[in-house]
Amino acid sequence: MAWNLSGTHAQAGDLAQLAGLRNKSFIIQLVPGAVFQTHRGVLNHDDLIGLPWGSQVFSHQGSAFFLLQPSLGDLLREIKRNTQILYPKEIGFILVQMGIGPGQHVLEAGTGSGALTTALAYMVGKEGHVTSYEARPEFQRLAQSNLKRAGLEDRVTFKLKDIQEGFEDRKSTRLILDVANPYDYMAQVRAALKPGGFFGSILPTTNQVAKLLIALRQERFAFLDVCEIMLRYYKPEPDRLRPTDRMVAHTGYLIFGRPILLSENSAGQDLLAEINADREEEVA
Ligand code: SAM
Repeated sequence: MAWNLSGTHAQAGDLAQLAGLRNKSFIIQLVPGAVFQTHRGVLNHDDLIGLPWGSQVFSHQGSAFFLLQPSLGDLLREIKRNTQILYPKEIGFILVQMGIGPGQHVLEAGTGSGALTTALAYMVGKEGHVTSYEARPEFQRLAQSNLKRAGLEDRVTFKLKDIQEGFEDRKSTRLILDVANPYDYMAQVRAALKPGGFFGSILPTTNQVAKLLIALRQERFAFLDVCEIMLRYYKPEPDRLRPTDRMVAHTGYLIFGRPILLSENSAGQDLLAEINADREEEVA
């Protein structure tokens, strides 16, 4: 499979999205001779391969779909999951805030269903790499199959290991924890993450955030930020443009920090305290 984002026509091996009514869509890999079955009818892959992206296609029962190139967001929304996953709104901000891009080596735990892993693997590109730790084999297996489906498995090393035992890696400048008790692993994070690197985490309750902040300060992390991302969709109707009736009010809080090397003298301690106090001001 390939993330063929530049082609104008659907090719064998491409990931394709069949988008139908009522927000129903399916993401498939186009394989010559294969058949796609849904309760809305059957489509032959051979009838899709070679069509321009954006074409309307019909199942044998006459159900209509549009043939589209899926975005990373489309793939993440449809990912198979056994765990809570990170959502595109948080993932997008994490990627920007932590400067995750081509060629980088990123560490994460836990892998869970691999939604964040998929986004990280996509962003680090062919030259970069992601090492992802997970304690439970059944979740790791699911994540591996999700990454394979996205064609990104070569960019990820999956470790079946409790991070209580520490990370084996020492060369990362980006480390993300999506586990329930990140504050218990700060010494392990500190040992794995290069000074000056980027740490990020997501937690569902403020109680957990408070514990993490205390642990981060103890381990000499500076430039701490806590935020949440609220996303509100609108009904795309020009005559009655207004927010949709419902929105997801809460997913989680994002916490970011940088491990720093503190000089031994008291001026270093003072500066750290001042920098942490500065963060109480608004950051745009
Ligand atoms: N970020 C993932 C995603 O987007 O699909 C979801 C992660 S899920 C919320 C949390 C995962 O962390 C679970 O799969 C859990 O088994 C794993 N986990 C919790 N504590 C861990 C530990 N100490 N070491 C390794 N994995 C751990």
